[in-house]
Amino acid sequence: MRNYDSTRCVLVTGGAGFVGSHLCERLLACGHEVLCVDNLFTGSKRNIAHLLAHPRFEFLRHDVTFPLYVEVDEIWNLACPASPVHYQHDPVQTTKTSVIGAINMLGLAKRLRCRILQASTSEVYGDPSIHPQPEQYWGNVNCIGPRSCYDEGKRCAETLFFDYQRQHDVDIKVARIFNTYGPRMHPNDGRVVSNFIVQALQGSPITIYGEGQQTRSFCYVDDLIEGFLKLMAAPKGFTGPVNLGNPGEFTIRELAEKVIAMVGSKSTIQFLPLPADDPRQRKPDISQARAQLGWEPQIALDQGLQKTIAYFEALLSGKAG
Ligand code: NAD
Ligand code: UDP
Repeated sequence: MRNYDSTRCVLVTGGAGFVGSHLCERLLACGHEVLCVDNLFTGSKRNIAHLLAHPRFEFLRHDVTFPLYVEVDEIWNLACPASPVHYQHDPVQTTKTSVIGAINMLGLAKRLRCRILQASTSEVYGDPSIHPQPEQYWGNVNCIGPRSCYDEGKRCAETLFFDYQRQHDVDIKVARIFNTYGPRMHPNDGRVVSNFIVQALQGSPITIYGEGQQTRSFCYVDDLIEGFLKLMAAPKGFTGPVNLGNPGEFTIRELAEKVIAMVGSKSTIQFLPLPADDPRQRKPDISQARAQLGWEPQIALDQGLQKTIAYFEALLSGKAG
Protein backbone atom coordinates (compact mmCIF):
# COMPACT_ATOMS: atom_id res chain seq x y z
CA MET A 1 0.00 0.00 0.00
CA ARG A 2 1.07 3.56 -0.72
CA ASN A 3 2.70 5.28 2.22
CA TYR A 4 0.60 8.37 2.86
CA ASP A 5 3.34 9.98 4.90
CA SER A 6 5.68 10.14 1.92
CA THR A 7 6.13 12.97 -0.58
CA ARG A 8 3.95 12.74 -3.68
CA CYS A 9 2.64 14.64 -6.66
CA VAL A 10 -0.93 15.76 -5.97
CA LEU A 11 -3.63 17.24 -8.16
CA VAL A 12 -6.04 19.73 -6.58
CA THR A 13 -9.00 20.67 -8.78
CA GLY A 14 -10.61 23.94 -7.73
CA GLY A 15 -7.25 24.79 -6.14
CA ALA A 16 -7.59 28.53 -6.77
CA GLY A 17 -10.82 28.70 -4.78
CA PHE A 18 -11.33 29.47 -1.11
CA VAL A 19 -10.86 25.97 0.35
CA GLY A 20 -8.61 24.80 -2.51
CA SER A 21 -6.03 27.53 -1.94
CA HIS A 22 -5.71 26.61 1.75
CA LEU A 23 -5.37 22.96 0.76
CA CYS A 24 -2.64 23.71 -1.82
CA GLU A 25 -0.75 25.74 0.78
CA ARG A 26 -0.98 22.93 3.34
CA LEU A 27 0.03 20.20 0.87
CA LEU A 28 3.10 22.24 -0.15
CA ALA A 29 3.99 22.63 3.53
CA CYS A 30 3.82 18.81 3.81
CA GLY A 31 6.49 18.63 1.08
CA HIS A 32 4.31 17.53 -1.84
CA GLU A 33 4.38 18.66 -5.48
CA VAL A 34 1.06 20.41 -6.13
CA LEU A 35 -0.66 20.71 -9.49
CA CYS A 36 -3.52 23.19 -9.08
CA VAL A 37 -6.16 22.96 -11.79
CA ASP A 38 -8.87 25.60 -11.96
CA ASN A 39 -10.92 27.43 -14.60
CA LEU A 40 -11.06 30.53 -12.35
CA PHE A 41 -14.87 30.66 -12.49
CA THR A 42 -15.15 31.58 -8.80
CA GLY A 43 -11.53 31.18 -7.78
CA SER A 44 -8.83 33.72 -8.48
CA LYS A 45 -5.12 33.94 -9.10
CA ARG A 46 -4.97 36.27 -6.10
CA ASN A 47 -5.78 33.28 -3.84
CA ILE A 48 -2.68 31.46 -5.05
CA ALA A 49 -0.47 34.47 -5.85
CA HIS A 50 1.81 33.66 -2.90
CA LEU A 51 2.28 30.09 -4.21
CA LEU A 52 3.01 30.79 -7.88
CA ALA A 53 6.75 31.19 -7.40
CA HIS A 54 7.03 28.06 -5.26
CA PRO A 55 9.23 25.45 -7.02
CA ARG A 56 6.84 22.61 -6.15
CA PHE A 57 3.67 24.47 -7.25
CA GLU A 58 2.17 24.55 -10.72
CA PHE A 59 -1.06 26.19 -11.91
CA LEU A 60 -3.03 24.97 -14.92
CA ARG A 61 -6.11 26.83 -16.18
CA HIS A 62 -8.51 24.06 -17.18
CA ASP A 63 -12.20 23.21 -16.95
CA VAL A 64 -12.76 19.78 -15.37
CA THR A 65 -15.74 19.12 -17.64
CA PHE A 66 -13.06 18.40 -20.28
CA PRO A 67 -10.72 15.41 -19.95
CA LEU A 68 -7.36 15.99 -18.30
CA TYR A 69 -4.26 13.95 -19.05
CA VAL A 70 -1.64 14.36 -16.32
CA GLU A 71 0.46 12.00 -14.19
CA VAL A 72 -0.13 12.36 -10.44
CA ASP A 73 -0.14 10.17 -7.30
CA GLU A 74 -3.33 11.48 -5.74
CA ILE A 75 -6.38 13.61 -6.65
CA TRP A 76 -8.38 16.07 -4.54
CA ASN A 77 -11.56 16.96 -6.45
CA LEU A 78 -12.80 20.33 -5.22
CA ALA A 79 -13.76 22.03 -8.50
CA CYS A 80 -17.32 23.38 -8.19
CA PRO A 81 -18.76 26.75 -7.23
CA ALA A 82 -20.00 26.49 -3.64
CA SER A 83 -21.95 29.68 -2.98
CA PRO A 84 -25.68 29.54 -3.86
CA VAL A 85 -25.37 32.82 -5.81
CA HIS A 86 -22.52 31.43 -7.91
CA TYR A 87 -23.80 27.91 -8.48
CA GLN A 88 -27.23 29.25 -9.49
CA HIS A 89 -25.67 31.72 -11.96
CA ASP A 90 -25.12 28.95 -14.55
CA PRO A 91 -26.93 25.91 -13.14
CA VAL A 92 -26.33 23.70 -16.18
CA GLN A 93 -22.59 24.28 -15.91
CA THR A 94 -22.81 23.54 -12.15
CA THR A 95 -24.32 20.11 -12.78
CA LYS A 96 -21.80 19.46 -15.56
CA THR A 97 -18.92 20.42 -13.28
CA SER A 98 -20.05 18.03 -10.55
CA VAL A 99 -21.05 15.12 -12.77
CA ILE A 100 -18.77 15.28 -15.83
CA GLY A 101 -15.97 16.67 -13.65
CA ALA A 102 -16.33 13.62 -11.35
CA ILE A 103 -16.35 11.22 -14.33
CA ASN A 104 -13.20 12.82 -15.75
CA MET A 105 -11.34 12.80 -12.43
CA LEU A 106 -12.47 9.26 -11.58
CA GLY A 107 -11.35 8.12 -15.02
CA LEU A 108 -7.97 9.68 -14.33
CA ALA A 109 -7.80 7.97 -10.90
CA LYS A 110 -8.73 4.65 -12.51
CA ARG A 111 -5.98 4.93 -15.14
CA LEU A 112 -3.37 6.07 -12.62
CA ARG A 113 -4.61 3.68 -9.90
CA CYS A 114 -4.40 6.52 -7.43
CA ARG A 115 -6.47 7.66 -4.48
CA ILE A 116 -9.12 10.33 -5.09
CA LEU A 117 -11.04 12.49 -2.63
CA GLN A 118 -14.36 14.12 -3.40
CA ALA A 119 -15.38 17.41 -1.76
CA SER A 120 -19.03 16.59 -1.21
CA THR A 121 -21.40 18.63 0.87
CA SER A 122 -24.02 18.75 3.61
CA GLU A 123 -26.36 19.83 0.78
CA VAL A 124 -26.77 16.11 -0.02
CA TYR A 125 -29.06 16.13 3.05
CA GLY A 126 -31.17 18.96 1.52
CA ASP A 127 -33.63 20.47 4.00
CA PRO A 128 -33.06 17.74 6.60
CA SER A 129 -35.82 16.19 8.67
CA ILE A 130 -33.27 14.47 10.94
CA HIS A 131 -31.18 16.61 13.26
CA PRO A 132 -28.20 16.56 13.61
CA GLN A 133 -27.42 14.83 10.32
CA PRO A 134 -25.58 11.46 10.43
CA GLU A 135 -24.04 10.00 7.28
CA GLN A 136 -26.71 7.26 7.21
CA TYR A 137 -29.44 9.84 6.54
CA TRP A 138 -30.45 9.80 2.86
CA GLY A 139 -31.61 13.40 2.79
CA ASN A 140 -34.59 15.46 1.75
CA VAL A 141 -33.70 17.07 -1.56
CA ASN A 142 -35.89 18.81 -4.15
CA CYS A 143 -34.68 17.58 -7.55
CA ILE A 144 -36.22 20.44 -9.58
CA GLY A 145 -35.59 23.57 -7.50
CA PRO A 146 -33.00 26.36 -7.79
CA ARG A 147 -30.54 24.54 -5.49
CA SER A 148 -30.92 21.19 -7.28
CA CYS A 149 -28.10 21.77 -9.77
CA TYR A 150 -25.69 21.78 -6.84
CA ASP A 151 -27.41 19.29 -4.51
CA GLU A 152 -28.24 16.69 -7.15
CA GLY A 153 -24.93 17.27 -8.94
CA LYS A 154 -23.06 16.50 -5.73
CA ARG A 155 -25.32 13.52 -4.96
CA CYS A 156 -24.70 12.10 -8.43
CA ALA A 157 -20.96 12.67 -7.97
CA GLU A 158 -21.10 10.58 -4.76
CA THR A 159 -22.96 7.86 -6.70
CA LEU A 160 -20.21 7.90 -9.34
CA PHE A 161 -17.50 7.68 -6.68
CA PHE A 162 -19.07 4.59 -5.12
CA ASP A 163 -19.79 2.98 -8.50
CA TYR A 164 -16.17 3.49 -9.63
CA GLN A 165 -15.10 1.92 -6.36
CA ARG A 166 -17.42 -1.11 -6.70
CA GLN A 167 -16.95 -1.54 -10.46
CA HIS A 168 -13.28 -0.58 -10.89
CA ASP A 169 -11.83 -0.75 -7.36
CA VAL A 170 -10.91 2.94 -7.43
CA ASP A 171 -9.50 4.03 -4.06
CA ILE A 172 -12.03 6.70 -3.01
CA LYS A 173 -12.61 9.06 -0.09
CA VAL A 174 -15.76 11.17 0.24
CA ALA A 175 -15.97 14.15 2.62
CA ARG A 176 -19.33 15.80 3.28
CA ILE A 177 -18.35 19.35 4.12
CA PHE A 178 -20.60 21.57 6.24
CA ASN A 179 -20.52 25.40 5.96
CA THR A 180 -16.86 26.38 6.06
CA TYR A 181 -15.56 29.93 6.34
CA GLY A 182 -12.30 31.85 6.66
CA PRO A 183 -9.84 34.11 4.85
CA ARG A 184 -9.98 34.06 1.01
CA MET A 185 -13.73 33.63 0.78
CA HIS A 186 -14.80 35.85 -2.08
CA PRO A 187 -16.13 39.15 -0.66
CA ASN A 188 -19.07 39.12 -3.11
CA ASP A 189 -19.84 35.44 -3.22
CA GLY A 190 -23.09 35.88 -1.29
CA ARG A 191 -22.36 33.37 1.46
CA VAL A 192 -23.58 34.37 4.87
CA VAL A 193 -20.28 34.78 6.75
CA SER A 194 -18.58 36.86 4.05
CA ASN A 195 -21.76 38.89 3.41
CA PHE A 196 -22.26 39.77 7.09
CA ILE A 197 -18.61 40.66 7.72
CA VAL A 198 -18.32 42.84 4.61
CA GLN A 199 -21.65 44.55 5.38
CA ALA A 200 -20.63 45.15 9.02
CA LEU A 201 -17.25 46.57 8.01
CA GLN A 202 -18.88 48.87 5.46
CA GLY A 203 -21.62 49.94 7.87
CA SER A 204 -24.30 48.82 5.43
CA PRO A 205 -27.41 46.87 6.51
CA ILE A 206 -26.91 43.22 7.46
CA THR A 207 -29.16 41.24 5.13
CA ILE A 208 -30.97 38.44 6.98
CA TYR A 209 -33.02 36.20 4.72
CA GLY A 210 -36.33 35.19 6.30
CA GLU A 211 -36.57 35.74 10.05
CA GLY A 212 -33.06 34.48 10.68
CA GLN A 213 -34.27 31.48 12.68
CA GLN A 214 -32.69 28.99 10.24
CA THR A 215 -29.52 27.43 11.65
CA ARG A 216 -26.07 26.59 10.30
CA SER A 217 -22.90 25.14 11.83
CA PHE A 218 -19.74 26.97 10.86
CA CYS A 219 -16.35 25.30 10.51
CA TYR A 220 -13.13 27.32 10.30
CA VAL A 221 -11.15 26.43 7.17
CA ASP A 222 -7.99 25.25 9.03
CA ASP A 223 -10.08 22.66 10.90
CA LEU A 224 -11.56 21.41 7.63
CA ILE A 225 -8.11 21.05 6.03
CA GLU A 226 -6.93 19.02 9.03
CA GLY A 227 -9.94 16.71 8.57
CA PHE A 228 -9.21 16.44 4.83
CA LEU A 229 -5.62 15.33 5.51
CA LYS A 230 -6.74 12.74 8.05
CA LEU A 231 -9.35 11.36 5.67
CA MET A 232 -6.92 11.14 2.75
CA ALA A 233 -4.41 9.33 5.00
CA ALA A 234 -6.98 6.85 6.37
CA PRO A 235 -6.73 3.16 5.39
CA LYS A 236 -8.25 2.16 2.03
CA GLY A 237 -11.13 0.43 3.84
CA PHE A 238 -12.45 3.73 5.17
CA THR A 239 -14.03 5.53 2.23
CA GLY A 240 -16.58 7.71 4.02
CA PRO A 241 -18.83 9.46 3.24
CA VAL A 242 -17.83 11.26 6.39
CA ASN A 243 -19.20 14.53 7.74
CA LEU A 244 -16.58 17.24 8.27
CA GLY A 245 -17.97 20.27 10.06
CA ASN A 246 -18.24 22.03 13.38
CA PRO A 247 -21.23 20.85 15.42
CA GLY A 248 -21.68 24.27 17.08
CA GLU A 249 -25.09 25.42 15.81
CA PHE A 250 -26.20 29.05 15.48
CA THR A 251 -29.24 30.80 14.08
CA ILE A 252 -28.48 33.24 11.29
CA ARG A 253 -29.77 36.01 13.55
CA GLU A 254 -27.24 35.00 16.24
CA LEU A 255 -24.49 35.11 13.63
CA ALA A 256 -25.57 38.60 12.52
CA GLU A 257 -25.54 39.90 16.09
CA LYS A 258 -22.16 38.30 16.79
CA VAL A 259 -20.57 39.84 13.69
CA ILE A 260 -22.02 43.31 14.44
CA ALA A 261 -20.67 43.13 18.01
CA MET A 262 -17.24 41.82 17.01
CA VAL A 263 -16.76 44.43 14.30
CA GLY A 264 -18.19 47.15 16.55
CA SER A 265 -20.39 48.12 13.61
CA LYS A 266 -23.29 50.56 13.42
CA SER A 267 -25.00 48.38 10.80
CA THR A 268 -28.73 47.84 11.14
CA ILE A 269 -30.47 44.55 10.30
CA GLN A 270 -32.55 44.30 7.13
CA PHE A 271 -34.91 41.34 6.67
CA LEU A 272 -35.21 40.07 3.08
CA PRO A 273 -37.26 37.19 1.63
CA LEU A 274 -36.01 33.69 2.30
CA PRO A 275 -34.71 32.03 -0.90
CA ALA A 276 -36.55 28.92 -2.16
CA ASP A 277 -35.62 25.60 -0.53
CA ASP A 278 -33.30 27.26 2.01
CA PRO A 279 -32.58 24.49 4.58
CA ARG A 280 -34.15 25.31 7.96
CA GLN A 281 -31.53 23.61 10.07
CA ARG A 282 -28.10 22.09 9.66
CA LYS A 283 -25.67 20.53 12.12
CA PRO A 284 -23.26 17.67 11.49
CA ASP A 285 -23.17 14.51 13.53
CA ILE A 286 -19.39 14.03 13.58
CA SER A 287 -19.19 10.82 15.59
CA GLN A 288 -17.78 8.96 12.57
CA ALA A 289 -15.02 11.54 12.01
CA ARG A 290 -14.18 11.40 15.72
CA ALA A 291 -14.06 7.60 15.83
CA GLN A 292 -12.49 6.82 12.44
CA LEU A 293 -10.19 9.82 11.95
CA GLY A 294 -9.63 11.07 15.49
CA TRP A 295 -10.73 14.46 14.17
CA GLU A 296 -12.80 17.22 15.60
CA PRO A 297 -12.74 20.98 15.09
CA GLN A 298 -10.53 23.00 17.42
CA ILE A 299 -11.45 26.56 16.46
CA ALA A 300 -14.55 28.12 18.03
CA LEU A 301 -16.74 30.46 16.00
CA ASP A 302 -15.57 33.63 17.80
CA GLN A 303 -11.93 32.75 17.22
CA GLY A 304 -12.46 31.94 13.53
CA LEU A 305 -14.59 35.02 12.97
CA GLN A 306 -11.82 37.19 14.45
CA LYS A 307 -9.31 35.89 11.88
CA THR A 308 -11.85 36.23 9.06
CA ILE A 309 -12.80 39.78 10.04
CA ALA A 310 -9.10 40.72 10.11
CA TYR A 311 -8.72 39.31 6.58
CA PHE A 312 -11.68 41.25 5.18
CA GLU A 313 -10.59 44.43 6.97
CA ALA A 314 -7.21 44.21 5.22
CA LEU A 315 -8.84 43.28 1.90
CA LEU A 316 -11.27 46.18 1.95
CA SER A 317 -8.53 48.64 2.86
CA GLY A 318 -6.40 47.28 0.02
CA LYS A 319 -3.77 45.80 2.35
CA ALA A 320 -4.49 42.06 1.89
CA GLY A 321 -1.62 39.98 0.56
P1 NAD B 1 -14.99 28.23 -4.35
O1 NAD B 1 -16.05 28.68 -5.27
O2 NAD B 1 -14.17 29.26 -3.66
O3 NAD B 1 -13.99 27.22 -5.06
C1 NAD B 1 -14.35 26.39 -6.11
C2 NAD B 1 -13.24 26.43 -7.14
O4 NAD B 1 -13.58 25.55 -8.24
C3 NAD B 1 -13.03 27.81 -7.74
O5 NAD B 1 -11.67 28.13 -7.75
C4 NAD B 1 -13.58 27.67 -9.16
O6 NAD B 1 -12.97 28.57 -10.08
C5 NAD B 1 -13.29 26.22 -9.45
N1 NAD B 1 -14.15 25.66 -10.51
C6 NAD B 1 -15.49 25.77 -10.63
N2 NAD B 1 -15.91 25.12 -11.72
C7 NAD B 1 -14.80 24.56 -12.30
C8 NAD B 1 -14.58 23.78 -13.46
N3 NAD B 1 -15.60 23.41 -14.25
N4 NAD B 1 -13.31 23.42 -13.76
C9 NAD B 1 -12.26 23.79 -12.97
N5 NAD B 1 -12.42 24.54 -11.86
C10 NAD B 1 -13.68 24.92 -11.53
O7 NAD B 1 -15.70 27.28 -3.25
P2 NAD B 1 -15.10 26.59 -1.96
O8 NAD B 1 -15.88 27.06 -0.80
O9 NAD B 1 -13.63 26.69 -1.94
O10 NAD B 1 -15.53 25.07 -2.22
C11 NAD B 1 -14.59 24.09 -2.65
C12 NAD B 1 -15.28 22.75 -2.72
O11 NAD B 1 -15.78 22.38 -1.45
C13 NAD B 1 -16.48 22.72 -3.68
O12 NAD B 1 -16.51 21.49 -4.35
C14 NAD B 1 -17.66 22.83 -2.76
O13 NAD B 1 -18.81 22.23 -3.32
C15 NAD B 1 -17.17 22.09 -1.53
N6 NAD B 1 -17.86 22.56 -0.33
C16 NAD B 1 -17.56 23.76 0.23
C17 NAD B 1 -18.27 24.19 1.35
C18 NAD B 1 -17.97 25.50 2.01
O14 NAD B 1 -18.69 25.87 2.95
N7 NAD B 1 -16.96 26.23 1.66
C19 NAD B 1 -19.29 23.40 1.87
C20 NAD B 1 -19.59 22.19 1.24
C21 NAD B 1 -18.85 21.77 0.16
N1 UDP C 1 -28.18 34.19 4.45
C1 UDP C 1 -28.67 35.38 4.98
N2 UDP C 1 -28.15 36.54 4.52
C2 UDP C 1 -27.17 36.60 3.59
C3 UDP C 1 -26.66 35.38 3.04
C4 UDP C 1 -27.21 34.20 3.50
O1 UDP C 1 -29.55 35.38 5.84
O2 UDP C 1 -26.75 37.72 3.23
C5 UDP C 1 -28.73 32.92 4.96
C6 UDP C 1 -29.19 31.95 3.88
O3 UDP C 1 -30.53 32.19 3.54
C7 UDP C 1 -29.01 30.62 4.60
C8 UDP C 1 -27.79 30.84 5.49
O4 UDP C 1 -27.67 32.25 5.62
O5 UDP C 1 -30.12 30.33 5.41
C9 UDP C 1 -26.49 30.27 4.92
O6 UDP C 1 -26.36 30.73 3.59
P1 UDP C 1 -25.09 30.45 2.69
O7 UDP C 1 -25.40 31.04 1.36
O8 UDP C 1 -23.87 30.91 3.38
O9 UDP C 1 -24.95 28.87 2.59
P2 UDP C 1 -25.98 27.65 2.52
O10 UDP C 1 -25.77 26.94 3.81
O11 UDP C 1 -27.39 28.13 2.40
O12 UDP C 1 -25.53 26.91 1.33
